[in-house]
Amino acid sequence: MKVSSVSDLLQSSLFLQEVAVKGWVRTFRSNRFIALNDGSTINNIQCVVDFENTDEAVLKRISTGAAVSIKGTLVESQGRGQKVEIQVLEIEILGDSNPDEYPIQPKRHTLEFLRENAHLRVRTNTFSAVMRVRSALSFAVHKYFQENGFNYVNTPIITGSDAEGAGEMFRVSTFEPNEAPLTEDGKVDFSQDFFGKETNLTVSGQLEAETYAMALGKVYTFGPTFRAENSNTTRHLAEFWMIEPEVAFMDLDGNMDLSEDFIKSVLSYVLENCKDDLAFLDQRLTQEEKSKPQAERSEMSLLEKLHFVVDNNFKRVSYTEAIDILRNSKPNKKKKFQFPINEWGADLQSEHERFLVEKHFKCPVILFDYPASIKAFYMRLNEDGKTVRAMDVLFPGIGEIVGGSQREERLDVLKEKIETMGIDEKELWWYLDLRKYGTAVHSGFGLGFERLVQFATGMNNIRDVIPFPRTPQNAEF
Ligand code: ATP
Ligand code: MN
Repeated sequence: MKVSSVSDLLQSSLFLQEVAVKGWVRTFRSNRFIALNDGSTINNIQCVVDFENTDEAVLKRISTGAAVSIKGTLVESQGRGQKVEIQVLEIEILGDSNPDEYPIQPKRHTLEFLRENAHLRVRTNTFSAVMRVRSALSFAVHKYFQENGFNYVNTPIITGSDAEGAGEMFRVSTFEPNEAPLTEDGKVDFSQDFFGKETNLTVSGQLEAETYAMALGKVYTFGPTFRAENSNTTRHLAEFWMIEPEVAFMDLDGNMDLSEDFIKSVLSYVLENCKDDLAFLDQRLTQEEKSKPQAERSEMSLLEKLHFVVDNNFKRVSYTEAIDILRNSKPNKKKKFQFPINEWGADLQSEHERFLVEKHFKCPVILFDYPASIKAFYMRLNEDGKTVRAMDVLFPGIGEIVGGSQREERLDVLKEKIETMGIDEKELWWYLDLRKYGTAVHSGFGLGFERLVQFATGMNNIRDVIPFPRTPQNAEF
């Protein structure tokens, strides 16, 4: 007999038909009502056991967490809260779950406790909803790019270029820590290592993606990225997934348009396709907000925030304008910022970004034309000689969600920049070749997938939107 998914059954009206379903018991009450979940939806299907005609030994084994196989008749439900239920004809316990030991009891657990049980937390409503939304978002990412003429490229995870400069890197080596061969001057001799040079886990696929954009035109990456930054924040992981489109013949304005259109498109996709999960997460967030002091509560619910982003234009503001706004802002004058804004050229901290987005503009903001001195070497220098064609997309609650730029396509300017930043030109020979052979205006950005999932699900901590988070001092599982 065909096993149906709970999701299909809940939408079915094949009443009085015999159906089969497999899943895990969420709750079992009155020796009669099983709430069964199989992961296909946040909703459980109620399975009504005929306890008088069921073996007592079997009844005892129906407990939270147990895996069961059920055959029964689909009927219209008498109870409230569900349209259909299954009258059980046959139940088989596939895998027991000792109720005295099973950590995921049918009650509210703290997110901290669930992080320690990351192998089981996806069995809760919250995490199953988050992970289904995450999956739908990944699909939406590919769908958007594939439907818009982009080619998916897989850039290397192990990289030999140490010029990316996006953050601290994890070394990849086959040397035994204490037995690495040394050169004459006592340094580790990486020429004898596996790759014959120093290699690391990638912090970004951008430089390699650029090489492909300069032949395939429009490309995107979507893969794991690593940063050994020791920042224990709610927005940083040591291992995260990044989406990096790169487009030939596109300037910074096109780049801003692309980022905005892309984000709106993927959020619309989940609004359309994850209704039950988002409704649940919306309720969850509203509950969580209630425990905060009034002043810190969000004015909008999760669904309102998602619709707001999809329906409104992102505000585009130059760095210079932003500095003016920040300098004259109340928190700056009242010395409320941890990093006061005094001069043009200051790097913006998360507190400033959040002020602009949450207090001043009250909508997503794209900041552009940053000082060259605080941005990477590959960003295109403006005519003013001091700013570069960089852009950051800033989101409420998250801060930076996208970082991107128009790339420097002029060989001489790029070489000069590389030199003043003290980068070894030889390391970048292949990157410079792009400017020697058929160079062209091109742009791209990097979007941290987990920050997008955070926004879409309303989860406050980035550790709660990836199955097994990697953070300083934590690589369990
Ligand atoms: P931040 O200032 O927030 O650390 P960044 O300037 O280091 O970000 P980029 O190097 O521009 O970020 O990376 C592109 C995008 O990747 C960011 O906009 C963000 O969405 C995401 N990102 C960067 N670092 C992390 C991290 N450690 N964990 C998760 N996502 C990250
Ligand atoms: Mn960073």
